Amino acid sequence: MTAAALTADDAGPLAFFKALHDAYSQTLERFRGNPRLIDAVLSQAFDSFEGNVALQSEGQPEIACHKGCATCCTLRVSATSPEVLLIARFMRAARPALARMGIDLEQRVFDADKITRGLDEAARVKLRRRCPFIEKGACLIYAVRPLACRGHASLDVRACVDAAAGRADSVPYSEPHMVVRSLVQNAMQSALRDAGYAWDTQELNHALSMALRDDLEPAWTAGADPLAAATIADEIGAAEMARTFDAIKAA
Ligand code: SF4
Repeated sequence: MTAAALTADDAGPLAFFKALHDAYSQTLERFRGNPRLIDAVLSQAFDSFEGNVALQSEGQPEIACHKGCATCCTLRVSATSPEVLLIARFMRAARPALARMGIDLEQRVFDADKITRGLDEAARVKLRRRCPFIEKGACLIYAVRPLACRGHASLDVRACVDAAAGRADSVPYSEPHMVVRSLVQNAMQSALRDAGYAWDTQELNHALSMALRDDLEPAWTAGADPLAAATIADEIGAAEMARTFDAIKAA
């Protein structure tokens, strides 16, 4: 069974998590030692997210997000190690095309990291600095954007504008996007952990700055945690998450 075929409706969230976990585990086992490991596990994650969000969003209010709107792209972005490494690879491959457009995306990430490193979520909101990937209102890494960005879908563009300007504290977000993102990402992290890979989340600017300076894929695929310095410290800790994963699998 492929992960994309699973639905939270069919099985309930916990069973959905377990089924996703098992599907990821099979992929991680099949691609162990294969240079396509990261592509395989993230294709599975992104397909599972898109397919299940579409199912869960049926009959729900329409999403206000649209191409050219990057109002919310000032928030802190978290990403798992494979997501960071895939984006770094994508950026290296896109370097010549971006250079022809006069864009030095790597320098933009380094510059952003100098300003955002170590800031918590509240400080990032206050800073109102746009993500380094925004170009003319669009995301330059849209095809490989992290699950955190995929799961952030607004129902009210006016509320986004007000929140970005500091005039409102909250934005109505799509519940299916948030729930499916959590299940898809956490099941992947749980499977990575069981397979012996680093599975925590990192702050995107900091982690990418590290991954762009050195090729960290060999270390990560060998079971090391080369992006550990960029781990977000003010969110739920790894020990608590690991306990939750184990409790779900045992339920
Ligand atoms: S990576 Fe793309 S979608 Fe995510 S915050 Fe940055 S510009 Fe927005």
